[in-house]
Amino acid sequence: NPLELSDAGLLRQHCYVDGQWIAADGSASLDVHNPATGKLIAQVPLLGAAETQRAIRAAEHALPAWKRKTAAERSRLLQNWFQLLLQHQEDLARLMTLEQGKPLAESRGEIAYAASFIEWFAEEGKRAYGDVIPSPFQDRRLLAIKQPVGVCAAITPWNFPSAMITRKAAPALAAGCTIVVKPAELTPLSALALAVLAERAGIPAGVFNVVTGDPVAIGGELTSSPVVQKLSFTGSTEVGRLLMAQCAPTIKKLSLELGGNAPFIVFDDADVDAAVKGAIASKYRNTGQTCVCSNRFLVQAGIHDEFVEKLAQAVALMQVGDGMEDGVVQGPLINEAAVQKVERLIADVQKKGGRIAIGGKRHALGGLWFEPTVLTGVTPDMDVARQEIFGPVAPVFKFQDEQQAIDMANDTEFGLAAYMYSNDMARIWRVSEALEYGMVGINTGLISTEVAPFGGIKNSGLGREGSRHGLDDYLELKYLAIGGL
Ligand code: ADP
Repeated sequence: NPLELSDAGLLRQHCYVDGQWIAADGSASLDVHNPATGKLIAQVPLLGAAETQRAIRAAEHALPAWKRKTAAERSRLLQNWFQLLLQHQEDLARLMTLEQGKPLAESRGEIAYAASFIEWFAEEGKRAYGDVIPSPFQDRRLLAIKQPVGVCAAITPWNFPSAMITRKAAPALAAGCTIVVKPAELTPLSALALAVLAERAGIPAGVFNVVTGDPVAIGGELTSSPVVQKLSFTGSTEVGRLLMAQCAPTIKKLSLELGGNAPFIVFDDADVDAAVKGAIASKYRNTGQTCVCSNRFLVQAGIHDEFVEKLAQAVALMQVGDGMEDGVVQGPLINEAAVQKVERLIADVQKKGGRIAIGGKRHALGGLWFEPTVLTGVTPDMDVARQEIFGPVAPVFKFQDEQQAIDMANDTEFGLAAYMYSNDMARIWRVSEALEYGMVGINTGLISTEVAPFGGIKNSGLGREGSRHGLDDYLELKYLAIGGL
């Protein structure tokens, strides 16, 4: 038990297909490394097209019995799964920090968040109400009922290795769908541990399947299969666009949760200390590696210098290190490419006249650590204005008036999350309605919860996850016209 789990059974190095734990046909495997130490921690199967086809067939065979169950029966199995996540929170968090690098406290938080989607949809699944439509015909009655879309596929990222799976799988299963999940190759252990618990919860074979391995081969099968009715993807806009095109020939339903370029707007009338607190939460969580992390700080001229000074002071206190150590709030970045991207973006800001208020370089710890950074004098011609940073870097732009803030905020292809700090109620309404974003945090830097609809507009994606709306993404509406009355 090299990872010191209290339940060693949660570390699986096989995939879960049709209720069986399988290896790759040729026994090929994928190495999983700890980003804090660089050490090899496990090897999982490198599956390809053939094994993916088997998983899709398993999901297809499991579908009729699963959708025939009552919503209450499915709910009870999901409740078991939810309870098991909470019971094993500590081990699951440990596995997550080991493969992903986020501080252990954040991993515990993510397991609770992941579990919350299972509990929520276990309940919501019982509320898939349809409509009885007042009929314009004397001899006909009209209804709309909701039915599961069928076999689903999910492709998930490494930044939230558990929650991005349950946010898709829980509504799918609650709705009566079956699913094949392909987790990110960097974080397969969290996904396989979820499968261990799904099996223990009594979720039938074939209902929830996890395949790890070659993204192109597995993704190719999931997107081209006529059996798969829906794909839910969280990841980059670039890959989302590719998968959407691959799904076009079979007209799949799609949920896409893609990149963001979140503005964090601080008006002169804001509470600066609250804004700094919100900025820290929204920017530096998961070392800046979330799709709703603030990417651009837009700060009004009158409050700008005070905000920058206080933000830099708060950033100076952040403890950087191995997520397994007490007190660490900034873990390593996920890989060398991520560190280089951050370096490139900072160099571009400096070249074009911006300044480093704090940080700005690799951390003295070496490896994949980077100093939490604040940049000032940032302008729209710099690369950070357009590109998702995905690292612990806060670029600060200065603006003069409300309209300029709105224009700057909306000047991006993305439309996922936005944040604003103000104490003027009329301004809060004006600005939050004018922001072209799927989600707006007002005087808060944390918006994610299972009860609210999460998702973006523009190039940030399609569909909503969580909330009562999240179930609809896994349901089809069927209209029944009953004549001859
Ligand atoms: P990130 O930039 O967060 O790594 P990606 O979009 O590259 O985001 O990855 C998100 C998920 O998409 C991962 O599970 C990854 O394996 C998968 N993925 C990447 N490229 C492809 C592809 N060509 N086909 C299918 N899945 C892919």
